[in-house]
This record gives sequence, C-alpha cells and structure tokens, in this order.
Amino acid sequence: MRTVVVTGGGTGIGREIAAQFATEGCHVVITGRRADVLQKAVDEIGGSVRAVTMDGTDPEQTADAAREIGPVDVLVNNAGGNTDFDRDEPRTLREVADAWRLNVESNVMTAVLMTTALLPAMPSGSAVITIGSIAADKGAGSYGAAKAAVASWNVDLARRIGDRGITANIVSPGYIADTEFFRDKLTDDRKHALIDAAMTRRAGAPSDIAATVRFLASPGARQITGQAIAVNGGEWTTR
Ligand code: NDP
Repeated sequence: MRTVVVTGGGTGIGREIAAQFATEGCHVVITGRRADVLQKAVDEIGGSVRAVTMDGTDPEQTADAAREIGPVDVLVNNAGGNTDFDRDEPRTLREVADAWRLNVESNVMTAVLMTTALLPAMPSGSAVITIGSIAADKGAGSYGAAKAAVASWNVDLARRIGDRGITANIVSPGYIADTEFFRDKLTDDRKHALIDAAMTRRAGAPSDIAATVRFLASPGARQITGQAIAVNGGEWTTR
C-alpha cells in the first residue's frame, strides 16, 4: 500500500486530503507544528494515519522528519497560508521585510525543503503535489508572490524528476471555506463577494481539492506533470 505524506495535514484542506487517502487504505503521515491538533486529526480520521510534529520552515526538523518517515509514494505539500493574517499591517521597512520573509518561508520553503528531503527515497511512479493558490494569478501581496514562486519552482522540479518517473504538479484553489486559512478576518461581505466571483456561485470545499489531488496521484495522471491545475469554480480561467 502507498505511503502518503500530507504537510499541514492536521486542519482544513490537508486534513481532508489525508482522510481521503486513508479511506483508500494508504499509510498516511500528517505534519504540522501543533501536536494536539495533529493528534485530534489522527484520532478522528482513523485508519493508518500517524503524525509527525515539525516546523516545515526548519531544515533540521525537516531532515529529521524525512528520516523518520522513510520511503514515500505521494508527497502533498499543503502546509502554508497567508501569514499576513497573523500580524499587523507593516509600518517600517524592517516590518515589510519580515512580513515578506514569513510568507516565503511558510509557502515556498516548506515545499522546497520537504520535497528535497523526501525525493531521494521516492520510487518511480511517485507524485509530488503542491497546493498553490488563485492568489498567484490574481496578486495578493507577499502571499500571492510566494504562491507564484512555488508554481515556478514546480516547473523546474517536474523537469528534473521526469526521467525518474515522478510527476510534480500544483493544485491551485480558489476560495475554500471551512479551513483555518482566513483566521477570523473574513467578513460576510467579502465572503459573499468571493462566492459571487465564482461561476459555480459557491465556495470551494476541502473535498474539491482532495479529489483533484487524488486524481493527480492516480495511475491515470502519469502524463500530467509540470502543470498548475486550477480548482476555483471558474473565478479565474485558464485556456
Ligand atoms: P489551514 O490554516 O487550515 O491549514 C494550513 C496548515 O498548514 C495547518 O494545519 C498548519 O498547521 C500547517 N502549517 C502552516 N505553516 C506550517 C509550517 N511552517 N510547518 C508545518 N505546518 C505548517 O488552511 P487551509 O487548509 O485553507 O490551507 C491549506 C493550503 O491551501 C495552504 O497552502 C493555503 O495557502 C492553500 N490555499 C487555501 C485557500 C483557502 O481559501 N482556504 C485558497 C488557496 C490556497 P500548524 O499551524 O499546526 O503548523
């Protein structure tokens, strides 16, 4: 049975991805910084799920986690979020620099470090799937820029690992409700505006993203690599 790693798998989109792979019978490893949140997810999901508590921005913790996890068939780089929601508006240039670094660390470094650490032990037929964002295309300060950087990195990654039989793709969500992403900062007006902006006139759900991730990890998707797949209800279209 396949081993699947879902970073940030204790909450929101990552938790649903972990639960769906566990339902398939996969061995699932979820990571995150909060041990209690991870343990709750392990208990609730059931099946073969275990937690590794770690900060994905830290190279040493990532190396230790990779050693503990061992060979992996599917890596889902889901950890991240808009770190600006956790801080006040930057006033000084120092605060601007700190805010940008935090979003890059949180969204780019977490994916780059975990992928680099696990790749040597990923066999042919494996898949790396990284959660991007509609923000990369629409623009959203340092968060959107960090998600755009992740998409560019993915193209190079796919090129480097293609001949090993490993695919690398981005899943780019639009507005997804029922996660911790927006903290308590999403007003009803903004929420309705986001729903109205989607052709489907509904918010996305973690299960929408999980279904696409599972497809990209399936045998039918082996010729799909280096791509960013939008799952946004038509809020932002590609050709
Ligand atoms: P959540 O905040 O619920 O999930 C983010 C998860 O990432 C948390 O479990 C968090 O756990 C973990 N995480 C964050 N930073 C680190 C870190 N440094 N090391 C380890 N784990 C970390 O939000 P979502 O489920 O919505 O977000 C999942 C992904 O989807 C993110 O990459 C986000 O940017 C993306 N996304 C979400 C959208 C939405 O509308 N919800 C839209 C577009 C993209 P902990 O804090 O315990 O470490």
